[in-house]
Order: sequence, then C-alpha cells, then structure tokens
Amino acid sequence: MQSTTSTVQQILPDLLEFPLVPPQADGSVVEIADGLLWIRMPMPMALDHINVYLIEDSDGWFILDTGLNTRTTRRLWQQIIEQHGKGKSVKGVICTHFHYDHSGLASWLTETFDVPLYMTHGEFYILKAISSNMSALGDAHQMAFYHQTGTPLEEVEAMIEGCRKDPFMQDSPPSFNRLREGDVLTIGKRNWRVVIGEGHSPEHACLYSEQDKILLAGDQLLPHISSNVLISELEPQGKQLENWLNSLNKLQTLDSKTLVLPAHGPVFKNLHLRAQQLIQHHQEQLDLLRTLASQHKEFTAYQALKCLFNRPLSPVESMMALGETLAHLNWLEDNGDLDCQRKNTSGINTYLSRQFADNDRSTL
Ligand SMILES: [Zn+2]
Repeated sequence: MQSTTSTVQQILPDLLEFPLVPPQADGSVVEIADGLLWIRMPMPMALDHINVYLIEDSDGWFILDTGLNTRTTRRLWQQIIEQHGKGKSVKGVICTHFHYDHSGLASWLTETFDVPLYMTHGEFYILKAISSNMSALGDAHQMAFYHQTGTPLEEVEAMIEGCRKDPFMQDSPPSFNRLREGDVLTIGKRNWRVVIGEGHSPEHACLYSEQDKILLAGDQLLPHISSNVLISELEPQGKQLENWLNSLNKLQTLDSKTLVLPAHGPVFKNLHLRAQQLIQHHQEQLDLLRTLASQHKEFTAYQALKCLFNRPLSPVESMMALGETLAHLNWLEDNGDLDCQRKNTSGINTYLSRQFADNDRSTL
C-alpha cells in the first residue's frame, strides 16, 4: 500500500487546488456553476461551519445537507430561498448522511416546504433509531462497551453526560425517498449519480456529475481534516476503517480533474491526492499502534487512545477518539497484527501483538 502511495504521489501535483473563495458562514452565496450554489452555515463549535448546497431544477431547488438544528440556520434558510431562489421554492431535501450537522434540519425543512427527504436506507434508519431512542444513552450495554475499553468510569460518565447535554440532537422525518448506489438524479441540466461511501457513517451518499466533473462529497472527502471513523457499542466488531479505506479507493476511480464540493473546508481539486493523503494518515495511525504493540506486552483501547491522541480532549471528543482508536484496533485484529483477549477478569479487553500471542502459545 505504501509503495503505491509514493508512486502515485510522484505523478500527481503535490498540492490541492482551491479555485474559489469560500462564502462567509452567514448565509452568503457563491455560485459554483450554473444552477449550483455554495452556502456556508455557522456552527457554534470547534468545527465552525458546514457547507451546504442548492441545486436548481426547472421548478424548484434541492437542498443538499441542512446545517444544524438552530434558530440561526432556520432563519438563514428562509432568507436564502427568498433572496436567491429566483422566485422558486424548495423541491426536495437530500442528506448525505445522518450526522446532525448534515440532517439536523431535515424534519423542519421537509415540513416547512412540504417536500420529500432523499437519503440512503442505512442513513435514514440510523437517524430514526438514534432520534427515537435517546434513553439508550448510558444503558447497561453502552456502559459495558466503554468499560471493556479500559476507560475509567468517571471519564465514561462524562462522555455520556456530554451526549445527554448535546443541544443539537434532531428528530427524524417520518418518511424518505431511498437513494441507492448508481441511482441517477436528473436535476436541471445535470445528471447526478449516487456514489455510496462507508466508514464515517453507514451508507453515506455522494453525488457525482460525470459531465461537469463535480462531486458533492459530504464528509467522504474533506480537504483539511480527516473524517471521524468510529466504532461504537452498536457494532463493536465493525470494519469501519476497512470500509473507509475501500471508499477512498473507490473515489479515486472518479476523474482526476473533478471539482470536489466538501461539507467542511474549501472547494478543491486533486481528489486523488487527497484520498491518498487520507489513506496515508490512517497507515501512520496503524503504524503507531503496531509500535505500541511491540513495546507493551498487553494494552487496552484506552491506552491506545492515549498513544494516538496525545492532546487534551473534551469528553465528547474523547468518545470520538476512542471510537476511532477502536476502528484501527479492529483493523489490526482483522489483519492478523493483534490478538484481542476479550474481557479479562476485570471485564476489560486487552490487545497484544500477534507475535507475543504466538510466542505464548508455543510455550504452553
Ligand atoms: Zn460533517
């Protein structure tokens, strides 16, 4: 994998290109192409904005991703449609995935404009499950999952409390129109093909215009940050990292001149290089864990977290970092580098290098 990376990097220009100045996160609009508008919605958190897009059809607009469920974002949507809608209303809402910066206003927008929601099956049902089951937060199953990682109880409780206090949790619209891999949405003069990615969320939809070489990428390909690839108590043995790496490889089958419209950060070109950089980032994280395994006979996911994220983290950031650590540990276990001893006497999972595990076995 790594030798492929260096070969590809040699033949690619080594910088991403940012051809457009981003709009302010205040409802300002930048026209990317005819019938395609870029808007930035504010977010009161470390990641301070999300890019959302308006796609023009002959008789209305499709919204792609909604922004957070806040009064400000709702006001901005009303204002943008009035000022930039050319007298046309909203015709549909497309959400790339269930995370609340992307689908937080799906309910409000579909109700307000009385229009359908478009989402993949996997994303709609997890949105529905999470929004209808907040009582599962901190239940015995979830507490046991975090206990197994070796995280001290008070830190687990702080993580759960952080989620309970989260002001942006959204409800789910009652129904949806399903998007599937390869579906083509004809909107205005463009055909948008649905390209599914996995790893950051279960069934993330990107839209690709072959003719104009434009990718509405959501969180599948971000220019400056790496999307969270997370294991939670819902799927402890998940192959999220493998799925994520496969999805990055799949995006590299798209035209190298594609203009990428991401959910965070500026619009950019050179998607093949960006996909390679992200793959490289995860290879480096895996190498750090291999080194940890070579230096410690046994370690917990909590100890691995401290190795990968050597900086102060809020409780919710810790939860995401722990999920990301577990995604890498699962990959190493699936690929034969680590053995996981599930639930030792104190109910904690420990990891050891396969090398140590084999030696132990041979001395039995
Ligand atoms: Zn996002």
